[in-house]
Amino acid sequence: ASYASASQTDVLIIGAGPSGLMTAYWMARCGVRARIIDKKSTKVFTGQADGLRVRTLEIFDSIGFQHRVQHEGHVAVEANFWAPGPDGTLIRQGPFCSSKVNESPFHNMLLSQGRIERFILDSIKQYSNLEVERGVIAESFEYDEIVKDDQNAYPITLKLRTLSEDEVTPSNNSGEGRSHSVPDKLKDSDLHPDDLDDLIQDSKSRQTKTEIVKAKYLIGCDGAHSWTRKQVDIPLEGGVIDIIPITDFPDIRRLGTVTNASGTILVIPRERRLVRLYVPVQVVDVAKNGNARFNRSSITPEMIKERVQAILKPYTFDYKVCEWWTAYQIGQRIAPTFAKDDRIFLAGDAVHTHSPKVGLGMNMSMQDGFNVGWKVALVAAGVASPAILSTYNAERHHLAEMLLDFDRHLSGLFTDNKPSKGIPEGGSDKTENMIKVLETFEDFADGLKAFYGASPLVCKFVNEDKLNPGHHLVPGERFPPVKLRKQADGNTQWTTRIFESDGRFRLVILAGDVRNEMQKHRVDTLSRFLSGQLKEKASPLSRYNAIPGRFKSPIDVVTAHSASWKETEFFDFPEILRDLDATLGWGYDKIWCDDACIWDRDCDGKGYEKWGVDRMRGLMLVVRPDQYIGWVGELEHMDEMTRYLDGALIKVVTEE
Ligand code: FAD
Repeated sequence: ASYASASQTDVLIIGAGPSGLMTAYWMARCGVRARIIDKKSTKVFTGQADGLRVRTLEIFDSIGFQHRVQHEGHVAVEANFWAPGPDGTLIRQGPFCSSKVNESPFHNMLLSQGRIERFILDSIKQYSNLEVERGVIAESFEYDEIVKDDQNAYPITLKLRTLSEDEVTPSNNSGEGRSHSVPDKLKDSDLHPDDLDDLIQDSKSRQTKTEIVKAKYLIGCDGAHSWTRKQVDIPLEGGVIDIIPITDFPDIRRLGTVTNASGTILVIPRERRLVRLYVPVQVVDVAKNGNARFNRSSITPEMIKERVQAILKPYTFDYKVCEWWTAYQIGQRIAPTFAKDDRIFLAGDAVHTHSPKVGLGMNMSMQDGFNVGWKVALVAAGVASPAILSTYNAERHHLAEMLLDFDRHLSGLFTDNKPSKGIPEGGSDKTENMIKVLETFEDFADGLKAFYGASPLVCKFVNEDKLNPGHHLVPGERFPPVKLRKQADGNTQWTTRIFESDGRFRLVILAGDVRNEMQKHRVDTLSRFLSGQLKEKASPLSRYNAIPGRFKSPIDVVTAHSASWKETEFFDFPEILRDLDATLGWGYDKIWCDDACIWDRDCDGKGYEKWGVDRMRGLMLVVRPDQYIGWVGELEHMDEMTRYLDGALIKVVTEE
């Protein structure tokens, strides 16, 4: 009540680094009422992260700026490893190249974080007038837990303050201490002209002010020292301990994690009966100004032990031998959870940090933002069920654990100074280990596999016990990209671009060989269902709430058949698949063909093989707005598909 004059927004994002901007993209794209603030006066211009993994590039393609990265960036596919040979002189081993280098349309690239931020900012501008409010800091936080289940309530209250000219700093190290103007070192450098637009801004007219804002959802993307994380009391501190455990926990000699409300511990069985445990321990000094500060020196092995005992309960845990222990200082940290009550979310460095060697910080952060963004946007827009929000933590926490595991393996090799035994025949121990680690984590690091588990957004089985029919179309994994031919004009395009990140789920109909009468009949039956002729009101296309101001249905239908391109016509396909618009005419980009193209070798007509799908029978699937597969079934599994969508989307309220 004391904040009667507070303004309201549906989603407030704190932090405009890679994760915050990616989250904001979805708000812009789905037309959600949102704000994004950052305490710095500018975006990053030079330095910080630069490595881009293929999955990140696929995401960029689905947004529409992949070509800009391609144009400016540097491809990094092959690597050489130099190590001393038998006579001590350095010998090159390599070039080594990933065996999976062609599993994506794109290759790993290098381009500065500042350019990536520019491209996302431009995409946001393309779809909305959402702008980063720079030089604005969040200073106080209140959360009204009582109304957390009321979707119309604004349970989060924040005080935002516009920083004064003296307080605000730009993002660049080279501009340290300067305010809005162009940092000197950048003036004559090869800064891109479009970055200058962002640099010179309203410094003169800046006025300090304080504002109270109420929000339905808060997304903290505020980096490694996250203020938001501290407000919701989620620790990022931890201890690591090597002990010989005395316990009745059955899996103490197996690699894995144990999670309960007190946090997550990582169990790593080691040599000589030792076990290493990574343990979340929070020691906070609540200073007079209310800031929680991590105090490493006050962590003791006893505290770590007590935390392990709490997490392992009801199993017992103790030890007599402790070989080594430490409190985390920098580097490897992970928050036990990335969300509170599905109202407040944390993404990016705010919840996981690691050494920069694996080159994944920016990628993971953007992918976190990409994952949480569409979910919060669709729920805030009244399109998706709030039940989908819990999948953010379930999907991303697990990957952050893998990230830390990868980092541990790789960093260990960088810090291990033991001399190599020489290179008898092609490769030192260290190089071999390095390659082994890189190969083991390749799918994860490049984002080729996501490992998302079953949830309202990932249906692992159709008909309870029947496994999905597409061999390589696995629910919970990304849709394997393929280049297809557009039936209407023969142009080619990767599915990463066809499945545009516009907030819609995609019903992908792999229609098989429609020259065959039986198969054509199956496609016709499905089409009658989609146009509501089989069962009234059952069509998924009219069943769910629209994305207000954007799309009248949150489902887009895309067909890809396997017949010869030349022996098929656009008009061979049922009308509902051709997506007629009263103003724009036929949706010529809705029917695609998996056939080889003489002038584009990437379009080789082997898509169905790559997907493991029968070229005659095809199948259908639902691809989520982030291009991960949600559901797979036969063309007849219309009810099962509807059941999947019912679990994620909100049905239109009808009068009966
Ligand atoms: P950030 O990019 O940290 O963005 C957080 C934003 O939140 C900042 O803009 C900050 O101003 C804002 N903010 C914080 N608190 C508040 C508040 N209370 N109110 C308002 N705004 C707030 N990664 C790699 O992969 N490879 C590298 O080589 C690499 N090198 C790096 C070098 C440096 C010097 C740094 C700092 C980072 C480096 N990283 C590297 C890490 C990479 O930059 C991060 O992983 C990535 O930026 C994380 O994105 P983010 O959006 O989660 O957080």
